[in-house]
Amino acid sequence: MTASKSITILGATGSVGGSTLSLVREHPDRFVVHALTANSDYEGLAKLALEFKPAHVVIADEAFYSPLSETLAGTGIEVCAGAPALIEIAAQKVDLVVGAIVGIAGLAPVWNAVEAGQTIALANKEALVSAGHLIMPAAQKHGANILPIDSEHNAIFQCLRHERQDDIERIILTASGGPFLRMTPAEMRQVTIEQALQHPNWSMGPKVTIDSATMMNKGLELIEAAWLFDKGATKLDAIIHPQSTLHGLVGFKDGSWLAHLGIADMRVPISYALGWPERLSWKAQPFDFGSALQLDFAPVNEAKFPCFRLAKQVMGGADEQAIILNAANEEAVERFLKGDIGFCDIAGQVEAALAAGDFGIVADSFDAVVALDREIRQR
Ligand code: NAD
Ligand code: MG
Repeated sequence: MTASKSITILGATGSVGGSTLSLVREHPDRFVVHALTANSDYEGLAKLALEFKPAHVVIADEAFYSPLSETLAGTGIEVCAGAPALIEIAAQKVDLVVGAIVGIAGLAPVWNAVEAGQTIALANKEALVSAGHLIMPAAQKHGANILPIDSEHNAIFQCLRHERQDDIERIILTASGGPFLRMTPAEMRQVTIEQALQHPNWSMGPKVTIDSATMMNKGLELIEAAWLFDKGATKLDAIIHPQSTLHGLVGFKDGSWLAHLGIADMRVPISYALGWPERLSWKAQPFDFGSALQLDFAPVNEAKFPCFRLAKQVMGGADEQAIILNAANEEAVERFLKGDIGFCDIAGQVEAALAAGDFGIVADSFDAVVALDREIRQR
């Protein structure tokens, strides 16, 4: 019998957090939940805590400490609040930390988990985009394993399991193209928040869904892939594949290609990380080889998706450029979701931030990355 794993889930109340816990629910004998965290959804966090009985819960927004403590009074679950508690819990030794916080808020806990030498199932791509140049060497130094759970990266991780770095010639991420793949640029200027939140193939949190609609997501994922797989921009690319049946492809120097095929369900990559180095069975929907297997591919139209073009420009450039891209995008997406700017203004705001220059901060330490990120947002 396989020993049970202790796990901490950072961002337990979100989409990736929920998918992770649904797999844990199927395997009560395989996992012991050490800690669960959330930003402000204290009711959601309390409900999960009552079900999964972690030793600790952390609510990042201190305003929700009291109601969370009251709800969990008498359960024996330790309740903590605030950013320092979130960072501390990420470093408490467990078998697996799931990094499922959205945006730059996930960076500090992921950084701490890396420095503590944890094995990290990483969904939080913004952490790698902003600080991959620090995280990857720190992971090596501290013996931390990073298991990607972003679906495309997990697909490639699986394809590379028994391969030599020198044999890899190309890595290709697939992109569904999002809800506006077939719209004209003029139609895209009119889209509403509701339309942008309707992803054709994946059900995800709001930020990554908007990033998928602008295709910034695929640009961020190229930068993420560059760090995870130690490959330069010339070896990495993305292609439109509207069916989201193939998730990632790797081309080798002998002309062979390996690709990962599967249903579009985050539980596939998450289960791989949860079980790693074994595979974990779960009640996955069977793959339909009859009607589902139509594989279309097309290049990404960079003129129509300027966010993707901007991210590609940044890839392989100065580390500060990726931080600017990420921070400006996060701010712009937040404004779009509040109704303050239009959909096409997102790219405009990111382009303006990149054109504004270097902001005078060299991102050569974790603190410098945080400082630069903050500076960009303030402007
Ligand atoms: P989500 O919005 O559904 O959930 C985000 C989680 O982070 C929540 O638990 C929330 O409480 C927590 N959080 C938000 N702000 C925080 C803060 N300031 N401090 C502490 N905690 C905070 O997001 P999601 O869709 O689950 O995505 C999480 C990450 O995974 C993102 O980086 C996303 O790009 C990546 N990802 C998601 C999917 C998906 O299917 N949802 C797929 C691939 C990659
Ligand atoms: Mg992805």
